Amino acid sequence: MHVREYQRWLEAWDRARGWDQVLPAHTLAHAVEELGEVARLVLQWEGYKGAEGRAALQARLAEELSDLFVFLFKLAYQTGVDVEDALVRGQEKAESRYADLDEAGDLLARYHARQAEQLASWAGGEDAPAVEAPDAGAADPPASPRGA
Ligand SMILES: [Mg+2]
Repeated sequence: MHVREYQRWLEAWDRARGWDQVLPAHTLAHAVEELGEVARLVLQWEGYKGAEGRAALQARLAEELSDLFVFLFKLAYQTGVDVEDALVRGQEKAESRYADLDEAGDLLARYHARQAEQLASWAGGEDAPAVEAPDAGAADPPASPRGA
């Protein structure tokens, strides 16, 4: 399945049921609702209120991510956005932003070191990846190397 093919299928599927006749804000509210369901499962994945096995949790997460994608794709077709084109432009943006890995090396190293610390803390220190400590004099890295 291709992205554009999926978007066209969803729009036709909705249209056949009259579900394309809702405001984009209504679709966004549903997307946020689904995002909340994903968030709850991710918290469970990390042990918060976790009560089921990993495989069952992963299956539920896959279902809820699919639900979320449905509403994001719907929001896109309602607003005339071709998701495949948007993803290609986003891919080009990402490639140009960090095209030179040597240039971005320090920033990425600090980001990965911080993530490794958090993962090690979460995992209780077991199986923590070995990383170099970040430079104490360096500015704090962004929450993500992609920035805000
Ligand atoms: Mg759902």
